[in-house]
Amino acid sequence: MCGIFGIEGHEDAANLAYLGLYALQHRGQESAGLVSWDGSTVHVERGMGQVADIFKEKVLSRLPGNRAIGHTRYSTSGTSAMANAQPIVVKTSMGPLGIIHNGNLVNDRAIRQELEQEGSIFQTTSDTEVILHLMARNPREEIVESLMVALERVEGAYSLLLVTEQGLIAARDPHGFRPLMIGDCQGSPCFASESCAFDLLGARLVRELKPGEVVVARGSVMESFRLPRVPEPTRCVFEQVYFARPDSEVFGDPVSESRLAMGMALARESPAEADIVVPVPDSGLFAALGFSREADLPLEFGLIRNHYVGRTFIEPKQSIRNFGVKIKLNPVRGLIEGRRVVLIDDSIVRGTTSRKIVGMVREAGAKEVHMRISSPPTAYPCHYGINTPTRDHLIAAQHDVEEIRRHIGAESLEYLSLPGLLGCVSGAPESYCTACWSGEYRVAVGKDQCQQELFPIRTEEVE
Ligand code: AMP
Repeated sequence: MCGIFGIEGHEDAANLAYLGLYALQHRGQESAGLVSWDGSTVHVERGMGQVADIFKEKVLSRLPGNRAIGHTRYSTSGTSAMANAQPIVVKTSMGPLGIIHNGNLVNDRAIRQELEQEGSIFQTTSDTEVILHLMARNPREEIVESLMVALERVEGAYSLLLVTEQGLIAARDPHGFRPLMIGDCQGSPCFASESCAFDLLGARLVRELKPGEVVVARGSVMESFRLPRVPEPTRCVFEQVYFARPDSEVFGDPVSESRLAMGMALARESPAEADIVVPVPDSGLFAALGFSREADLPLEFGLIRNHYVGRTFIEPKQSIRNFGVKIKLNPVRGLIEGRRVVLIDDSIVRGTTSRKIVGMVREAGAKEVHMRISSPPTAYPCHYGINTPTRDHLIAAQHDVEEIRRHIGAESLEYLSLPGLLGCVSGAPESYCTACWSGEYRVAVGKDQCQQELFPIRTEEVE
C-alpha cells in the first residue's frame, strides 16, 4: 500500500510529482519522499507525515531538474521509521540510483541474509533495498539490464520507479499485482499508481504497464523491455474493492463502475427487508449506491465522515486507529431514527470498525441494522502489499459469519460471494489474486516471511 508517481523530461518535474503524490495520498499517509535529477546530481527530500505537510515551496525548490519520482508510504514491510521512508537513494558504479516501490516482495529475507553473509551492509529494513543491492552487484552499461537481472531474482509484488543517469525506469512485476499507469503530460512521459494522479495534472492516460514490462523513459522517448513471462497474471482485485480511488481506472476498469456492480450483485445475492441504504463513508459509497439502485431502496447519507481524519486503518499504530473510528464518523439521527437500515461497507478486517458503527447507528435510533459487505470474508493475510493483520487477528479467520454477526451486533450480516465479486470486473477470474479471501497464494511466500506481524495488535481488540 503505497502510491508512486514519476515524470520525465519536464522542467517542472518536482512540482508535478508533488501534485501527483497529492492525488495518491490515500495510498499511504505515513511518509512521503521525492527525488529529482538535474543532469549531474540526485536531490532527495523525505519526511514523515502527509505530502502537503512535508513539501512546502522551499522544500520543492531544493529539487531541481526535469526527472523526478515520488512516493507516499504505508509500510507493509520494514518498520515505519524515517530510515525506511522512500525514495531510497544510493551511489553505485552505474551512478546514483533512486528507487520507489509499491508492493511487497516475498523472498527478500532470504536474499538479504545471503547478501549480508557475503558482506553487504543494509541501511534499511525495507524489502526494496534488496533490489538496489542486487543491482549494485550486477552493474551493466545499460542500467535497465542491471535492474532486470535483479528483478529476475526477486519474487512477489512490485511496481517500481527509478531515477537513474540514463533515464526514468518503470517496472511492474510479471504477475501484475499492483497497478502502474503510463501518462502523457504535455509530451512528457509520466507514471502513476492510479490514473487519478494524471487527472489532477491534466495529463492523458496512455495505458497500463503490462505485467512484467519494464519501460525506460528518456526525454519524450520510451523504450519497452519484458521480464520472463509467467503463465497468468494475479492482479490484486482488492484494489477494485477498496484501495484505489473510485475516480481511477485500474486494470482496465473504472473503479467506480466495479464498485457499483459489486453493490448491485450484493443486493441480488443478499437482499434485506429495510427502509434505507446507508454507506459507511468513504469505503462503502459506491457499493451502497449500487445496492440502493438494485434493491430500489433510498440511499441516505446517515453517517458523516470528518474528512480531516485520515483513513482509520491506515495508521500503523493501533492506539491511533481505535481513537480514529470514534472521531471519524458521526450518525445523522434524523435520517436513521425509526428506520430499518442496510449498512454497506467494503470489508470487515478485525471487526472493530463495524462493531462500533453498528452500535453508533443503533444508538441513533435505527429500528434494525443489516450489514452488507461488498467482498467475501477476509480470512487470510496479504503478502503482496496490502496491509492486513495475521490470521489470528482476522475475525473471519477465527469466526463464522453468524459469530461475526453477533460480534458486530447486527440483525443480519451478509458478504458478497467470490464468484459474485469476480463477475464485477472485466478480466478473467483466474487473472486476479484472491488470496485474502481464498487463501490461494499463487506466488509462494518465503517460509521466514509468513509469520511477519505487520503491526502490533492489542489482544483485547478481538473479542
Ligand atoms: P476493521 O475494524 O478492522 O474490521 O476495519 C474495517 C474497515 O477498514 C473497513 O471500513 C474497510 O474499509 C477498512 N479496510 C479494509 N482493509 C483495509 C486495509 N488493508 N487498510 C486500511 N483499511 C482497510
